[in-house]
Amino acid sequence: MGLDVFSLKGRLALVTGGGVGIGLGISKALLEAGARVVITGRREEILKEAVSALGKNAYYIVNDITEKEKIPSLIEDIEKNIGAIDILVNNAGIHHKAWAQDTSDSDFERIIQTNLLSVFSITRECARKMLARRSGSIIMIGSMAGLFGIDRVVAYGVSKTAITGLVNALVTEYSQYNVRVNAIAPGWIESNMFLNAVEKDPPRKEKITNRIAMDHFGKTEDIGNAAVFLSSDAAKYITGVILPVDGGATVNF
Ligand code: NDP
Repeated sequence: MGLDVFSLKGRLALVTGGGVGIGLGISKALLEAGARVVITGRREEILKEAVSALGKNAYYIVNDITEKEKIPSLIEDIEKNIGAIDILVNNAGIHHKAWAQDTSDSDFERIIQTNLLSVFSITRECARKMLARRSGSIIMIGSMAGLFGIDRVVAYGVSKTAITGLVNALVTEYSQYNVRVNAIAPGWIESNMFLNAVEKDPPRKEKITNRIAMDHFGKTEDIGNAAVFLSSDAAKYITGVILPVDGGATVNF
């Protein structure tokens, strides 16, 4: 079998928010492993640019994941016009940096809508197809904020902590259909979201840097490579895992 177990040749992946940052890194890595990739997001220009850089096996669809009534037709359209979705990467997410005392109910709801409720809705609709085919790999993107307490990200942290509950619950129901559900918990990865969160806050940046055992921030390709592994047959007996890709930040003292 050799390295073929890592190949994604013939597979189709849907990567939400695949036009920039970690989603783009994941899309690149999946394509390099042989998959075709559909990326989504709200900004057409960004998606267009990304697809022309990613090459002929990449496709884009403009879609706002919070418009939940459009999710069933998004999945139907992909399955009808591009192919059966073998891999779903729930990458799209938003961040909100504010002290708990300054976080309004509507800020909290907005984060939960995008990072949790839309993720569930897309997963359920994709899983309808995957369960029927008895095959599929679903990857959630969690966060360090889902593994330990971080100040000034209360809503974000709750949304990412809930991803663990989602993974656990779905594993109990989907495994009998050979559909695997895992999450990657990225550490601090160089992307716009990360830069926005730390750029104007040098003490925060220093605190983070001190925490990372490997002493440097991660690259989007680091998350991409983990996504390839979890999507591939090399991980065919792996489900229910929250995989930190964090340069040792989770365990470092
Ligand atoms: P970016 O802000 O760079 O990218 C976010 C992506 O999500 C964009 O493609 C954006 O596209 C998309 N998106 C946001 N809201 C929606 C929506 N309503 N509908 C469709 N797409 C949407 O962030 P990152 O690349 O850093 O983050 C990607 C994921 O990784 C997120 O889930 C984040 O929480 C997680 N993460 C990031 C870490 C980091 O250090 N960077 C650390 C831990 C987790 P558009 O705006 O065009 O819609």
